[in-house]
Formats: sequence, C-alpha cells, structure tokens
Amino acid sequence: MSILDNRPALKAQIDQVAEVAGYLWIKGWAERNGGNITVNITEWADEGMKALPAISEVKPIGKTLPRLKGCWFYCKGTGKRMRDLARQPMANGSIIRILEDCAHYEIVADQPVAPTSELPSHLAVHDYLLAKGSPYRASLHTHPIELVALTHSRKWMKKDAATKMLWSMIPETKAFCPRGLGMVPYMLPSSVELADATIRTLDQDYDVVMWEKHGVFAVDVDIMSAFDQVDVLNKSAQIYIAAKNMGFEPDGMTDAQLKEMSFAFGLPK
Ligand SMILES: [Zn+2]
Repeated sequence: MSILDNRPALKAQIDQVAEVAGYLWIKGWAERNGGNITVNITEWADEGMKALPAISEVKPIGKTLPRLKGCWFYCKGTGKRMRDLARQPMANGSIIRILEDCAHYEIVADQPVAPTSELPSHLAVHDYLLAKGSPYRASLHTHPIELVALTHSRKWMKKDAATKMLWSMIPETKAFCPRGLGMVPYMLPSSVELADATIRTLDQDYDVVMWEKHGVFAVDVDIMSAFDQVDVLNKSAQIYIAAKNMGFEPDGMTDAQLKEMSFAFGLPK
C-alpha cells in the first residue's frame, strides 16, 4: 500500500522526482547523499489524504512559516541517496504535512523517513514563493560539476559575469534559463545565513542561485523544470570549458545577438 495508489496525478509528480534524481546521479551531480529535492504537493492533497493519520511524532520545523499552514510536501530523506531515490522514491523520501501552527510537521506517508536536514531552508523558500504569489512548487539543490568549478574564480562570482558568459555560449541557455544565475558567496552549508542569502538572491529575479564552491539551488513550477534550468546552464559551462581545452577563449554571442534573443522570444532580461 502506498499513498500514491489511486492518485495518478500525485504519483506523476513523485515519478518526476524519481526521474530527476536518476539524472542527477547519472550526471555525476549527486555523490553519496548530496543534493535535496522538495516539492509542494498541496494541490494534489485530497480529502482522503487529509483524513490519514500521521506515522511520526509531531516535529518542529525550526522556523515559523505562516504561508505553509496545512501545506503538503514531498521531501527527500535525510542521508538518502539520489540514486536510491530514483528507484524507490517513497523509501528514500516522505510526504509530510505542516500543522496549523505553521511551525511543526508530521510524516504521513509511506514510511517514517525523516526529511532532509535542509528542510527549514527549503520550506522557507516555499514560504517565500507562496508569499509572492509565485506558481513555483519545486526546489532543487545539487552539485553540477562545471558550474561549481566556475565559482572557484572571483571573476565569475561578480554579479552576472557568469550569467553573461553562459548565455553567450548557445542561444538556448538564455531562452530556457531566462533569469540567469544569481551568486551567493560561500557560507556554511545548512546555515540560516545561507538560507536567508538564497531567498534574498532569488528575490533579485533569479530562478537559479549558485552557492560559491558548493552547488546550485533552483526553483520552478515542477522539479523537471528546475532541473532543466540547471542542465542548460551546465551545458553552457561545458561548452566554455571545451573551447578552453581546444586552446582558445570562446568569443561568445555578441551583446546584440543576446538582445535580439530577448526581443524575439519575449524574455524577461
Ligand atoms: Zn550540497
């Protein structure tokens, strides 16, 4: 028995999480238990789900998040591997509901898998997204090799320096990651400071934020779309590196060509 039985729309969301987790592993972005996924699944929570008893104790989130009252989330489990989640999403993650006080949650299904230790920061991002009326329901943290490598140079940590270079490698990158890559200087993983800086940077009109010498944090309508934004950015980083390996600095598309893209496709930047 699974909460996904006879809930095809909810199952489709979780299947998508499993598919993305597999891609993260294949791409080499998810060593050991690296990376996190949380998806706000509230719109698929039916009356039958609301009547289900909890299978865990009530646990504190560690933050009070007023917009998450009664919300439901799928969360990767703490210490769980993406490559395992790809095969068994409900044994390596769980579905939780946020209680009325907006400060506690309980696990509802399928197994009492404790959510990621990054839960407070992921949920804070979801709270922020709801507050601003965003349609985004998924958040992804992963370690894309070439993008992380870029952040080891101060040159690429300057605001929008990496965005401009990445956009200029191939037209699709600007089309499919149209807000570019926000940069967050190095901060301790899991810290409140890092979570706050991530939200501040998302709020400067980015969907994908780079944590210096660590990884990306991306948000979008669903987890596949969040993954796609990171994937096109990393493809551009690989093209840049390929050109450098051929012994030259790539020219990149011109400013006029980038502007033409924005006009032709109605892009936000
Ligand atoms: Zn990480």
